[in-house]
Amino acid sequence: MVYDVIIIGGGPAGLSAGIYAKRAMMNTLLIEKLGVGGQIMKTHLIENYPGFPEVSGMDLMQKMEEHVKKFDLDIKFSDVQQIKDGGDVKTVVTSEGEFETKSVIIATGTNPKKLGVPGETKFTGKGVSTCATCDGFFFTGKDVALVGGGDSAIVEAIFLTKMVNKVYVIHRRDELRAEKINQERAFKNPKIEFVWNSNLQSIEGTDTVEKIVVQNKLTGETTEIQVGGVFMYVGIEPGTDFIDADKDEAGFLITGADLSTSIPGIFAAGDCRTTLLRQVATAVGDGALAAVSTERYIAHLE
Ligand code: NAP
Repeated sequence: MVYDVIIIGGGPAGLSAGIYAKRAMMNTLLIEKLGVGGQIMKTHLIENYPGFPEVSGMDLMQKMEEHVKKFDLDIKFSDVQQIKDGGDVKTVVTSEGEFETKSVIIATGTNPKKLGVPGETKFTGKGVSTCATCDGFFFTGKDVALVGGGDSAIVEAIFLTKMVNKVYVIHRRDELRAEKINQERAFKNPKIEFVWNSNLQSIEGTDTVEKIVVQNKLTGETTEIQVGGVFMYVGIEPGTDFIDADKDEAGFLITGADLSTSIPGIFAAGDCRTTLLRQVATAVGDGALAAVSTERYIAHLE
């Protein structure tokens, strides 16, 4: 069987593409590695997705999953390893076998970046985390550190203050890149202490995290801070290793206005492509546009 479209990734972009593709009566398969939802499942509070003034990432994605079920979207759980471009028919190679399709939508989103400091890997799962929503509870009443100054860092720092005693936000500059509304909330929160112009140098402990070492970039001074956990929010990298289409320096797929990549018939949607804004609202819009573009591409083929 040759599918009309295979969507790779089951986050907001992939599920939105699935709804549009099914409603266009396309023979559609969605392939997801682990479970539908994507990175947004790690966000405890979303306030900028229209129609949902306050919703957790988990609740929103549960609703999107229910929504795609209404259209009987075929979902397979498998790891995509390669896309073989045979022109009009492409082969998506996965850990569970190969699937043929006329078009592909890549909606693989992003993964959290690592800093590469000593102790980061050793203590992952033993005090180092990239998900405050999942792991924050384990640090109830403790002091923790959080690295980064973007939206993820600041939103999750605020969330952590509900359970921990104190959050040290370690940031390499003296200015945050997070949305202004999130900055204001963090500055007003008495449980958050900012450690500005500073780099995390190491994470130390015996069995679990006990302290971090931080260096001030302006003075060169090194300080130890006693913490029971470290949350890493130093940015994201795209899940695009398996595809050879044109990418920017950081690996994000370069797309045209119709979300086509440099390979005809392969489109990209959501956070894995070069874009000015990475939000649920933009990912969902991308998914819709990519599905319509694949429909036009297939019509053109025929
Ligand atoms: P991000 O916006 O790229 O921020 C990464 C942060 O980590 C920045 O503050 C950056 O510092 C810092 N950083 C990067 N490399 C570092 C290094 N080597 N050492 C120390 N610090 C380092 O990533 P994100 O916060 O995960 O957000 C990803 C995307 O999702 C963004 O587009 C964001 O707007 C979006 N998002 C939105 C919301 C929302 O509620 N609206 C929530 C979550 C995510 P510099 O600032 O100095 O570069």
